Amino acid sequence: MAQYDYDLITIGAGSGGVRASRFAASRYGKRTAVIENRRVGGTCVMRGCVPKKLLVYGAHFADEFADAAGYGWQARAEGFDWGALVGAKNAELDRLEGVYHRILREANVAEINGTGIVTDAHTVEVDGKAYTAEHILVATGGHPVMPKIPGIEHVITSDEALDLAALPERIVIVGGGYIAVEFAGIFNALGVETHLIVRADNILRGFDDAVRNTLRDEMARKGVQLHCETKVNSIERENGNYSLHLDMAEMMDTDLVMYATGRRPNTRGLGLEEAGVELNGRGAVVVDATSKTAVDSIYAIGDVTDRVNLTPVALAEGMAVAETLFGGKPTTVDYANIASAVFSQPPVGTVGLSEAEARENHDIDIYVSRFKPMKFTLSGRDENAMMKLIVDRDTDRVLGCHMVGQDAPEIIQGFAVALKCGATKAQFDATVGIHPTAAEEFVTMRQKLPEHDA
Ligand code: NDP
Repeated sequence: MAQYDYDLITIGAGSGGVRASRFAASRYGKRTAVIENRRVGGTCVMRGCVPKKLLVYGAHFADEFADAAGYGWQARAEGFDWGALVGAKNAELDRLEGVYHRILREANVAEINGTGIVTDAHTVEVDGKAYTAEHILVATGGHPVMPKIPGIEHVITSDEALDLAALPERIVIVGGGYIAVEFAGIFNALGVETHLIVRADNILRGFDDAVRNTLRDEMARKGVQLHCETKVNSIERENGNYSLHLDMAEMMDTDLVMYATGRRPNTRGLGLEEAGVELNGRGAVVVDATSKTAVDSIYAIGDVTDRVNLTPVALAEGMAVAETLFGGKPTTVDYANIASAVFSQPPVGTVGLSEAEARENHDIDIYVSRFKPMKFTLSGRDENAMMKLIVDRDTDRVLGCHMVGQDAPEIIQGFAVALKCGATKAQFDATVGIHPTAAEEFVTMRQKLPEHDA
């Protein structure tokens, strides 16, 4: 008779939790259960990346119809039905949820519905029922956080934005990160008067400055009204209208306010600290390189650990934990050169160091290319692309590869492999381009940016 009910209990059936559970059960034959109190699939599939990208696709047609005229088509962007888009998106999410249930079932992972609370190093309680496991994996993700200003109860987050009953005429989005710029792009393209309020002097803190400046300018050109270095002090609601009180006694009226001011780990009320798990000042679970917490039998992965908060990272961490616990091989994730994308309009793709990060430890050369993509020559769309390479002068290694423009996420994924392999600028140059593409610019940049322009 086994000492525990399960070999592994995972709390949270998001991307990371499902992957780790599935690997533990199907690859290593371990008795595994996963606990979830919302929909299986988690933030990425149900409330984040997937529905957001479907809305981005939907919004894109506005530009596509406009482009078509330049190519001889008499297509007009009219009759857009927001309800139809949301309905189709929700049907796809239902389908994906079914796929996730099937994956878990076929892998022999038991699903437990409810909120898991850790009561000791080997026990999780759900609705008063105790389940024991040799190992517990915390994969509870995060939630949106907002500043505590008067009237904040009137605002929505991206969760609600994905399911609005109707599009507003005007929206104010507060924040300058991934979520804020992505949703600003969606609403603006769908004809909503979109204001983006950013407390800093620019959007996308931490990204390369050329990316930040290019995207800011392109978004503004498309009609997003950016208000940088602007703070919201309070929000009032009256008769369906929202009044934002800004600094300097300025006011802004709108029909909807969305906050995208960051996310925090879901650790509250899980019994983690009581069980001996250490949390940091942001409430994130503190883990070692193998994702082990301060308690030997408890591991944590994904956004709840607040390391690199991206779905593919949670997947990698989940697989590493399964390998560590059941494959007999302590496994860590290599966090260097993780590519990421912002599905803004136009989108961003990036891998490696920003120029500012590279300058901290390297002597660097910079290569930049700015151009109007070929597709827009006939369509006349006023949108430019920017591509940038950062090269280490001593080793010739490409340290950073950044792009703003159509297909940037697809293009950068390939270059991420090159950076992971340690590719040099000479190897980029020796690569024959595919013509005519935007991507070929990355292998045909020969002109260094003069020092004073870098
Ligand atoms: P981010 O951390 O990316 O951005 C938060 C933004 O809100 C920043 O601009 C920040 O400003 C601003 N902010 C923070 N506090 C306040 C405040 N009190 N008042 C005004 N502005 C404030 O968070 P997001 O919510 O956009 O996204 C959360 C996470 O989700 C991301 O970190 C990312 O990991 C993930 N994500 C990834 C996506 C992708 O890969 N495409 C898409 C969406 C989300 P400042 O810069 O000054 O701190």
